Amino acid sequence: MTLQIVRTIAELRDVTGGWRKAGLTSAVVPTMGALHEGHLTLVRQGLQNADRAVATLFVNPKQFAANEDLSRYPRDEAGDAAKLESAGAHLLYAPAPEVMYPPNFATTVSLSGPATAGLEDRFRPDFFAGVATVVTKLFNQCQCDFAMFGQKDYQQLQVVTRMAADLDIPIKVLPVPTIREADGLAMSSRNAYLSADERTKAVAIYKALTQAADAIRNGTSPNAATTKAAASLTDFRVDYVEARSAENLARVETFDQPLRLLAAAWLGKTRLIDNIAV
Ligand code: AMP
Repeated sequence: MTLQIVRTIAELRDVTGGWRKAGLTSAVVPTMGALHEGHLTLVRQGLQNADRAVATLFVNPKQFAANEDLSRYPRDEAGDAAKLESAGAHLLYAPAPEVMYPPNFATTVSLSGPATAGLEDRFRPDFFAGVATVVTKLFNQCQCDFAMFGQKDYQQLQVVTRMAADLDIPIKVLPVPTIREADGLAMSSRNAYLSADERTKAVAIYKALTQAADAIRNGTSPNAATTKAAASLTDFRVDYVEARSAENLARVETFDQPLRLLAAAWLGKTRLIDNIAV
């Protein structure tokens, strides 16, 4: 194994600090594990931008609500380590929950702007505070030059980019396009929850978004196109299908700027999200 695994902040900083002293840049790829090609693409893109890549593996309890899937979230550290090594990552940081949140931990990052756009935050009210808090900690812990985030989680990417800038965290957040299965389904650790039947149905979200994007390009209003897309998802319980400004997630009436179509919908017990550009 050339992939080194560390579990404490001191060990992590020892390695990344050593790189810095040697004049090497580094990129961090925060993940919750159960890694797939999407995550590995973030690692490879990190290595296009920096000399060294660190993946972090932490299933962050603070971003799960009490009724969500924290306890059944898929976990496979050995499998993840093998995949990271094959993608060329140099370091895996896999802290225990008590390393991240020691007793008396009492601080949460408070957000507005993209975090209150009325998309994921409408259905998962504490989610972005949990993400922002752990990402701030990970950035401060690793002290890397770059952080790779997927466009798959488009609102999250906006939140993290805004937060790093607002809090003067000396790291550059770089976006990575969504990696998809052959049929178009966005890769996600949560796809593992889908039954075979649900897996074949799951691609409908991407298809609905693609059709809505085509309709908007052909003159249909964003609102009419996304309403039709939501109605087409008959196998799902739809949380939202919306067209927003790609730049700041503001609501839009017309197609006179780059848009992002974003969707979240439940297929059985699995909540899927996706988004595409218009
Ligand atoms: P997660 O482990 O699901 O929290 O995701 C960790 C990182 O991987 C986040 O920056 C995600 O946006 C990114 N990611 C997850 N799935 C994909 C995908 N299909 N394509 C690109 N990036 C992804």
